[in-house]
Amino acid sequence: MPEFKALIYDVPEAGIARITLNKPNMANAQDTALLYELNDAFDHAAHDDDIRVIILAANGKHFSAGHDLSETDGHGAMRTHQTVAPVCGFGCAGAEAQMAREEEIYLGFSDRWRNIPKPTIAAVQGKCIAGGLMLAWPCDIIIAADDAAFADPTVSFGVCGHEYFTHVWEVGIRKAKEMLFTSDEIKADDALRLGMVNQVVPRTELMDATLAMARRIAAKSRFALKLTKLAANGVQDAQGRQVALRNAFHLHQLAHTHNLKVFDMLLDPSGLPEATRKAMAARLAAAGKK
Ligand code: ZN
Repeated sequence: MPEFKALIYDVPEAGIARITLNKPNMANAQDTALLYELNDAFDHAAHDDDIRVIILAANGKHFSAGHDLSETDGHGAMRTHQTVAPVCGFGCAGAEAQMAREEEIYLGFSDRWRNIPKPTIAAVQGKCIAGGLMLAWPCDIIIAADDAAFADPTVSFGVCGHEYFTHVWEVGIRKAKEMLFTSDEIKADDALRLGMVNQVVPRTELMDATLAMARRIAAKSRFALKLTKLAANGVQDAQGRQVALRNAFHLHQLAHTHNLKVFDMLLDPSGLPEATRKAMAARLAAAGKK
């Protein structure tokens, strides 16, 4: 069992693994270390043949506020991991390093978790913002608390959506454009209507409802579940999902590079709080010394 600091791994019932983000005082903002831990936890559950269903949950008021933009040494925290294809260039300069970093821990990890050959269920409460969506959306099923709110405000920061561009499959193309163009939240009830979540339950019943769903699924044939997931994911893949994701990811990198040239930081600072602007400037300065 790997050692975890930013999350809790437990087996609440036979056959069910539960991974709980545990940085509630930071609204479960994701730094590099947390994402590597999460990947290790998913791997551990995937490789344990006694586990049939994996739950992803979060402690605290909010599921996740997204990526921790105040992280000052994200590049230094990178470690080579086995994603689907090897990623290289973490120690390089400029756009090469930035693209490698995001290819590994954002697009790479989210897509890797989407392809875990076991059913996954996200239990989402409170805010699920940008990078938060990149944890919930890869899961097969999402149970939302009635206070859940989903948003990708990255266009406000001068980029074209977060690094895992599955918005159109999640909410349909018109709502995807609206949520991106406006940065508006999608509330739990609207998410249910759009088919982005499977259930909306009272906040106090979120884990009970999630465990109930996991229990029903865990009673089924493990191999049949694996094959069914492959079949369902294969429908999206046949629609060109991988090519679409790569295309959006490359445009996202173009936006970062543009912002670096114009504003000297990865995001358009006009949409960022002052503290975040300073932290990002420090991170860039640190990365530039490598
Ligand atoms: Zn990015």
